[in-house]
Amino acid sequence: MYLKELELSGFKSFAKKTTMIFDSPITAIVGPNGSGKSNVAEAFRWVLGEQSMKSLRGKRGEDLIFNGSSGSSRLNHASVILTFNNKDKKFNIDFDEVAIARHVYRDGTNQYFINGSQVRLKDVIELLSVVSLGVSSHHIISQGEADRILNANIFERREMVENALGLRVYQYKKDESERRLAKTEENIKQVESLRREIAPHLKFLKKQVDEIKKAEEMRKELFGLYVEYLKREDWYLKNYRSELEKEKVGPEAELKNIEVELGRLSALLSSASDKDADRFNKVRELENTLADIRRKKDELGRKIGRLEGMIEANPLARFDEESPTEVKKCRYCGQDLPRVTMGVESGSFRDNLLVEIEKHKQDKTLAESELLKCVASERDILAQHSNLKSEIEKKKETLRDSERALYELRSRRSELQSGLGTVRVREERLIYEENALETELTEATVLVGRAILDYYPNFVFDENKSEDRTVQEERKKKIERIKIRLEDMGGSGEEVLKEFNETTERDQYLEREINDLLKSRESLTALMNELTEKVDQLFRDGVVKINTQFQEFFSLMFGGGSASLAIINPPNKRRENAMGDIEEIEDLREGIDIDVSLPRKRVKGLQMLSGGERALTSIALLFAISQVNPPPFLILDETDAALDESNSRKYGDMIENLSKYSQLIVVTHNRETMSRASVLYGVTMGGDGVSKLLSIKFEEAVAVAK
Ligand code: ATP
Repeated sequence: MYLKELELSGFKSFAKKTTMIFDSPITAIVGPNGSGKSNVAEAFRWVLGEQSMKSLRGKRGEDLIFNGSSGSSRLNHASVILTFNNKDKKFNIDFDEVAIARHVYRDGTNQYFINGSQVRLKDVIELLSVVSLGVSSHHIISQGEADRILNANIFERREMVENALGLRVYQYKKDESERRLAKTEENIKQVESLRREIAPHLKFLKKQVDEIKKAEEMRKELFGLYVEYLKREDWYLKNYRSELEKEKVGPEAELKNIEVELGRLSALLSSASDKDADRFNKVRELENTLADIRRKKDELGRKIGRLEGMIEANPLARFDEESPTEVKKCRYCGQDLPRVTMGVESGSFRDNLLVEIEKHKQDKTLAESELLKCVASERDILAQHSNLKSEIEKKKETLRDSERALYELRSRRSELQSGLGTVRVREERLIYEENALETELTEATVLVGRAILDYYPNFVFDENKSEDRTVQEERKKKIERIKIRLEDMGGSGEEVLKEFNETTERDQYLEREINDLLKSRESLTALMNELTEKVDQLFRDGVVKINTQFQEFFSLMFGGGSASLAIINPPNKRRENAMGDIEEIEDLREGIDIDVSLPRKRVKGLQMLSGGERALTSIALLFAISQVNPPPFLILDETDAALDESNSRKYGDMIENLSKYSQLIVVTHNRETMSRASVLYGVTMGGDGVSKLLSIKFEEAVAVAK
């Protein structure tokens, strides 16, 4: 790798685009005072990421932009591009050339680019740290800053030496690790606090989940109980129903028959009563007829008696027929008929008598025949009456049987009805239980899930082995008890479970996060320790190497004497404690002290050196450091200003030696130094206040420098 070119545009006094090519080991920049040489050195410092305006001799970013002059107007933007050859890939980037650019605008905006791509300052610093180039490193020695390392405190010196030794890259890594560690610590705290925040809620949820799990167990138990209970209940109720149905069949059929029979009997009885009336009417009729006949018979008897009396009273009849003394009795009534004494009169009288008697006799015969008829009728009517009466009696007997049957049937009917009533009461109870089973099934599906509907019908038990109903009741009670406990526990807890799972996952995630962070803290701490150890070791080794070179350069410069760097701790700090006692505080940090001892002089210590001696010592140290870890380039801005002629020669020898390891850019007024450069750039500034660059020959250089 080597420094290829520097392009300035609008930077400080370089208003116009100016390019410097660095194709030789030593490039000298010469020119009169105020022409802009140091601006070149500052352009290097700036493009490499310098943030301190003070070291750029400005106050604000815009101080770096060409401010205009009488002849040229001010610009709004400045840029510097530094190009390296990267064929050896020292820069960790896959380009043969690496161009680092920085731009600044009047509003103070800075932009950084690597090979044309805008990047962050951090990227530039990281890229450069790999090749031991940094802003405040030793490779750019500004004007009057040669003895900066001598003026610095022990810690600043250590930093400079570390940078020069290329340990900055480790320091970056360390800083980065430290930042990451701090971030990790912060994250650990945050995650721990998040876990702490979650913990009580998780504990609360866990308790709820335990309850839910318990409920789940109970639900399982309930499921088992339900399976048996429901199957048995279903079986029992079905059996009971068919039992009741069977119980009803006989009585219902009988009742039906009874109703039919009752209907029949009722009809029979009611029709019988109609017929009875007919019969009674007939009897009455017969009795009336009989009474009429008897009346008639009596009349006829009396008539006959009368007629007999009349006949007997007829004298003819007395003579002819009976002794006059003989007392005649009525044939019919048996009464003594009165004696009639009549004289036999004349013929006509007799005839009349005869006619009369004859008439009476005829009437009597008629009456008698009629009487006979009446008697026959009476006999007939009486027979009819008797028949009818016995028929009525017979009928009455039959009806009594029917009524008895009717009564018996009615009583049987109410007996059956009451029996069926009992069955109905039991049936109602059964319906109630069937409905209760339906309700239970619905509840069961809610409590233990719909699967119960598929499960319980498959439950098998010995149906022949009778089980006391109380066992089932006990089962039901147990179910009820679990139901009550489940109800007390509240819903299914799906939401709680979901939240618990989510919170647990979150907690586990946080736990993993903490573990990762702890691991990361461990590895970062390990890395930092490793880096500290490595930096420490490299630093100590580096200091040993620097000391060898320092001693060499120092004795070369001063013709003897001794110089070395020492790693020291700062003196203990003294502090008054709360009790008013003074206590010493040990500072374990390490810094660098410089021991010098000039030849032939008893002078020891940096404070005792003259200005020139300080400059020589600084140069010896800078060169020693550069020798141990040569930077890609080294810019020395009038580092040789304080040297006399003989020391200038020694200085010239040293830079020539150094140029074997690093490219050198020297800003100088020193002739000797100029003579060691193979390329010389002259910087001039005309009346327009704009720096101009020209490539010149050594012979011209001396003149240009004036
Ligand atoms: P010396 O040999 O005395 O050290 P030098 O060549 O190093 O001088 P510089 O210090 O580089 O000179 O240049 C300083 C010059 O640059 C001054 O003239 C100053 O006015 C000019 N300058 C600085 N900043 C700007 C700016 N922003 N715009 C224009 N000119 C500027």
